[in-house]
Amino acid sequence: MTKPIIEKRCTICKKLKPIDTDFYKKTSASDGHDYYCIPCRNRRGKRYHRKNRKQMLEKQAEWRRTHRAELKKYFAQYWEENKERIGEERRIKYAERKRMEGK
Ligand SMILES: [Zn+2]
Repeated sequence: MTKPIIEKRCTICKKLKPIDTDFYKKTSASDGHDYYCIPCRNRRGKRYHRKNRKQMLEKQAEWRRTHRAELKKYFAQYWEENKERIGEERRIKYAERKRMEGK
């Protein structure tokens, strides 16, 4: 017995597409498949990601703005506690660069 090809209309591009090959499985959906076809889902996913990323960056910038004083204190303290190590690392890096340039 061959399985009939079930088609489903994508809610974005409004095209009828075979459900087994053009739709992702989605257990929470009533028919067990996604509402959008795979190409539409991918396009949507990318857009969603970009938007999310922008929001995330904005949130981070906002966070830095509101915590500026704390951050400054934190970095000052960090510098104070690690200045010898940081200084040493910088010296090594600088020496390495000099050596590379000398070649
Ligand atoms: Zn589609």
